[in-house]
Amino acid sequence: MSNKQKKVALITGGSRGIGRATSLLLAQNGYDLCINYLNNEQAARAVQRAVLAHGVRCELYRGDVTKEDQVLAMFEFIDQHLGHLTALVNNAALMLPQISIEQVTEARLNKIFSSNITSYFLCAREAVLRMAHKHGGDGGSIVNVSSLAALSGSPHEYLDYAASKGAIDTMTIGLAREMSREGVRVNAVRPGLIYTDMHADGGEAARVDRVKYSLPLGRGGQPEEVAQAIYWLLSEQSSFTTGDTINVAGGMN
Ligand code: NAP
Repeated sequence: MSNKQKKVALITGGSRGIGRATSLLLAQNGYDLCINYLNNEQAARAVQRAVLAHGVRCELYRGDVTKEDQVLAMFEFIDQHLGHLTALVNNAALMLPQISIEQVTEARLNKIFSSNITSYFLCAREAVLRMAHKHGGDGGSIVNVSSLAALSGSPHEYLDYAASKGAIDTMTIGLAREMSREGVRVNAVRPGLIYTDMHADGGEAARVDRVKYSLPLGRGGQPEEVAQAIYWLLSEQSSFTTGDTINVAGGMN
C-alpha cells in the first residue's frame, strides 16, 4: 500500500465494544471509516458522532454480514461513498448462552458459524477483490478478531464459539499466504475477557469479573487495549508481519 494513499477502513460490528474502540482509534489516526452494525442504530450513531469529531469521513452501514447480498451491497456502498478500501477489520461475531456438547443443535451451530466464520470469509473476499494487485488494487491490510477461546476450547461453556475462532486462526494463516505477493497483509488478534456487552449475549453479563483472577494480570481487559493491537496490525508499523496473531488476553496463552 502506498504511503500517500488515503486510509479507508471497514469495521464490521463497529458500533459497540471492541469495534467501537477500534473505530475511535482509527479515526484519531486519520482513517475514513465505514462502521457496520446490525441492530442498534442509536449506538452506531453515537460512534459516528465521536468519529466525525476527529475530522475524518464516517459512513454507517446497517447490514447483516452473514448474508452475501448484504455484504456485496455494503462494499458497493463503500466504493461509492468512501472510495478505495485499504483496511478491513473482521470483528462482528456472536456468542450464545453457555452449553455443553449435549445441548448442541444444528440451528445453534449454523448461527454461530455463519456469524463468526462465513461473515469473515465473505468480507475478506470482497476486500481482496479491491486490494490485491492481481485485481488492480494497491494493497491493504486485514485484521481478523479471533479469541483466546480458539486456544482454550472453552469447555463446558462455548465449544462452538471457540471452534469458530479456531477456524478464523486457520483462515488468517492461509489467506495471508494466498495474499503474500498481492500487497495484502492478513493478521489476527486473540482478545480474552474484555469488558463488553458480548458476555450478556453469552448468558453471563458479569463473566469477566467472575473469571478475571484466572488471568496472569488478574483483571479483565478494556476494548481500547484490543484496539491498539488491531491498529498496529493494520498500520505500516507492522509492515513485515503477516499471517500472525497477537494475544491480547492478560497473559493467557
Ligand atoms: P459486542 O460488544 O457484542 O459487539 C458486537 C458487534 O457486532 C455489535 O456492533 C453488533 O451490532 C455487531 N454484529 C453482531 N452480529 C452482526 C451481524 N451479523 N452483522 C453485522 N453486525 C453484527 O462484541 P465484542 O465483545 O466487542 O466482540 C468483538 C469481537 O471480539 C468479536 O469477534 C468477539 O468474538 C471478539 N472477542 C471478544 C471478547 C470479549 O471478551 N468481549 C473476547 C474474545 C474475542 P448491533 O449491536 O447493532 O447488533
